[in-house]
Amino acid sequence: MGAAAQPTNGSGKEPHKNGSSKEPKIKHPERLRIALLAWYRAHKRDLDWRRTRDPYAIWISEIMLQQTRVAAVTPYYRSFLARFPSARQLATARLDSVLRYWAGLGYYRRARHLHRAAKQIVSRHGGEFPRGHAEALALPGIGNYTAAAVLSIAYNAPLAVVDGNVARVLARLGAVPGELRTPAVWRRLTAMAAALLAPDASGDWNQAMMELGATICTPQSPHCAACPVSDWCKARALGIANSLPAAQKKPAKVRILLAAAVLLDPQGRTLLVRPPDGDKRSGDNHAVPEHGVLFSRLWQFPAIARRVTPVGRNRASHRSANRTINNATRRLARHLEQTLGISAPLLEPLATAKHAVTFRDIRLVPFLVRVRRLPAVPGARILPIAEIDRLPVSSATRKIAASVARVLPAHYAG
Ligand code: SF4
Repeated sequence: MGAAAQPTNGSGKEPHKNGSSKEPKIKHPERLRIALLAWYRAHKRDLDWRRTRDPYAIWISEIMLQQTRVAAVTPYYRSFLARFPSARQLATARLDSVLRYWAGLGYYRRARHLHRAAKQIVSRHGGEFPRGHAEALALPGIGNYTAAAVLSIAYNAPLAVVDGNVARVLARLGAVPGELRTPAVWRRLTAMAAALLAPDASGDWNQAMMELGATICTPQSPHCAACPVSDWCKARALGIANSLPAAQKKPAKVRILLAAAVLLDPQGRTLLVRPPDGDKRSGDNHAVPEHGVLFSRLWQFPAIARRVTPVGRNRASHRSANRTINNATRRLARHLEQTLGISAPLLEPLATAKHAVTFRDIRLVPFLVRVRRLPAVPGARILPIAEIDRLPVSSATRKIAASVARVLPAHYAG
């Protein structure tokens, strides 16, 4: 039996320390381990990060894979490692350069943490990802799950990981009722994971559990007929595999309108701004920053944001939506005057676009603002609109730029 990695349960609290006595017992776990490991070694997907034991590369992959699909991660993983092949190279890079290679992956705080952690790995650990659990946990952006994943895969440390995929597999194997993320359930699953861990092959074991959850024991309609551990699965035996785990209550979506101004001078240059650096957050996921700071302090067009109510089908609702856009337009004009000194700007509407970020549905409402000369503002950057990718920008900013490209393609030619 291995050690529990004590992952958090998503509630921000550590699981209870006394949960190990209540984990569901699986008969003949040694046979289950053999069956699952054999299946994994024969059927695992050929993923870039599975071809290495380099803890740095595994760490990068684990951070990228948080809340991001494998297919989306692969090209970023390749280009990031090509540009920053070691902790030393990452540590000495400029943050802007790191963010540029991250741009499009979202959740940019991860990239900032990576950069800070790389500096600590160099200054405190000689450039090598630490082998100790406590040392790994002390690095920025590394929680129980990531520490256990990197240490087990790179160094075979006997630490069991529990993420959403693994928790679902365990809940079904042990027929554990309840929502996965509730503390009592997560505690039981964590204890179960530690009890089942193959201590001599912890890296493969953890990856096998994750692979099973990702490809066979999927959230909807698990493929039990193809499952290598179906003989041990209590949910299958009870005929309740489809109804476990209990559905999670999703937080309500917040709808946001972001009105942005694309300033453009006769040379086709635009102006991007960036909110103050740092990594402070209010912790209130429903707070909407006043001046459009929704994109993790990346470079963006000047903007204002406000929370809005969903648009219904009736006429009154549409009138209200139009009023909201008119208000936002006025506030954007005021914002441009106050921050950039552009008085009475003429805002030409561009095509709107949708942008979704986890719990936020954002309606992008861009405007073109033609100016004879772009204002010289401290901290702002002026560059050709066709070249905004030279700076770290979010995919929302790219969508806004695309709406300009549709009406002014000449600025994008050549
Ligand atoms: S038998 Fe079905 S429910 Fe049980 S672990 Fe396998 S895929 Fe999941």
